[in-house]
Amino acid sequence: MMKQWKGKMDAIVAGAGFAGAVMARELAEAGKRVLVLEKREHIGGNMYEEADEAGIRVHVYGPHIFHTNEERVFRYIQQFGQWNVYEHRVKGKIKGKEVPIPFNFTSLEALFPLEQAEKIETKLLAAFEGKTRVTVLELMEHGDQEIAELGQFVFDHVFKGYTAKQWGMPVLQVDRSVISRVPVVLGRDDRYFGDRFQAMPAEGYTKIFENILAHPNIVCQTGMDVMDLLTLQPDGTMRFDGVDFKGIFIYTGMPDVLLQNCFGCLPYRSLRLEFEILQQDDFQSASVVNYPNSEEFTRITEFKKLTGQEKPGVTTILREYPMAFTAKEGQEAYYPIENPQNRELHGMYEKALRQWENLYLCGRLAEYRYYNMDGVILRALDLAREILQKEKVCQTAKV
Ligand code: FAD
Ligand code: UDP
Repeated sequence: MMKQWKGKMDAIVAGAGFAGAVMARELAEAGKRVLVLEKREHIGGNMYEEADEAGIRVHVYGPHIFHTNEERVFRYIQQFGQWNVYEHRVKGKIKGKEVPIPFNFTSLEALFPLEQAEKIETKLLAAFEGKTRVTVLELMEHGDQEIAELGQFVFDHVFKGYTAKQWGMPVLQVDRSVISRVPVVLGRDDRYFGDRFQAMPAEGYTKIFENILAHPNIVCQTGMDVMDLLTLQPDGTMRFDGVDFKGIFIYTGMPDVLLQNCFGCLPYRSLRLEFEILQQDDFQSASVVNYPNSEEFTRITEFKKLTGQEKPGVTTILREYPMAFTAKEGQEAYYPIENPQNRELHGMYEKALRQWENLYLCGRLAEYRYYNMDGVILRALDLAREILQKEKVCQTAKV
């Protein structure tokens, strides 16, 4: 592969997902010359979007919906393209019926006799006064028997099967924070996310990434694995492309790889993604339908309903089959498996990597955190600010 950069770079960024792209942009805005290397053949990380054979825009690494409560993040992404308001709604197949997920009062009334449902709704509103979204665990652990029983019902029918499929282990072994991402709604709000800002990019995510990286101080090369060019030397220095590199090095990939998995492999969960083009106008009642209790897949996404694209006579769907991640060709590490043991293992890598003072970990893989897109953007903005601040302090100290 012909290298597309020449001359001295002030910063190298490995990975062109949100972590890498935002870091690169922020450093470039501060006057740094930045080289972004992406090992895939395209930018955009897991948000990468392209048109398939039928001309339907698909999210190649699974469905991505932008949502945040952070106005700062929403303002930031709006600089790089137009975003359309999009409120995500999901259905789940429960006991042969399609009901709203998160489980809400409409779901309750579809699955229980109306009188019983209304009685428990009144009880829930009194027990959790002022709250509209609670976790299933809060219901299960509640002192009132009827509320606890409803919690158990939701747990058994919405969370147990889905979680076992998604994580490959019994639900009780999965970190509580994971299932707490999806609440139970005390009302009729049927939006999947409760955040203030919810949107989809009008021209797709890939365009947003092109715009973030379109800066005169950024050179971006795809199809280039940073590990083929980087050497971390035992004395805390690093070499890049055969020469010493003392600039800022941002890494957004798996951290164990940087140290040849010396403490063992960090576990991740992967997915087999099965796309299907169907010659029909539409396929299902919502952009995403979850299958907690039947089928081997967890959910089906219908992309036209997600992106708003109009294309009569054809639609593309995606089934997600969870599986273990092994570092085999073609497999992607999608989800860090959050638990104290894995966090400790990640901590060992993090600590060992501190030896290289100009190396920074950023993003879902590198930090081993179940970040949403907004969390990654926020982290990248903060980290860039921190690094630039640190440099300023060092320069002042030298003067
Ligand atoms: P990534 O997007 O994974 O980017 C890392 C990049 O680094 C990759 O492109 C990789 O190829 C590259 N890289 C790694 N190692 C190297 C190397 N050695 N050299 C060069 N390049 C390298 N979040 C939401 O907010 N809303 C959603 O609806 C949502 N849905 C999701 C659905 C699925 C199926 C998954 C798996 C995640 C979803 N997320 C969602 C989370 C979202 O994908 C992450 O928050 C986001 O991808 C994190 O960005 P990142 O830059 O840290 O990582
Ligand atoms: N979950 C579930 N049933 C559902 C939806 C989610 O059990 O119908 C659990 C499951 O453990 C999942 C977690 O909640 O991994 C987080 O769901 P989310 O939709 O946030 O997952 P992601 O979109 O990140 O895959």
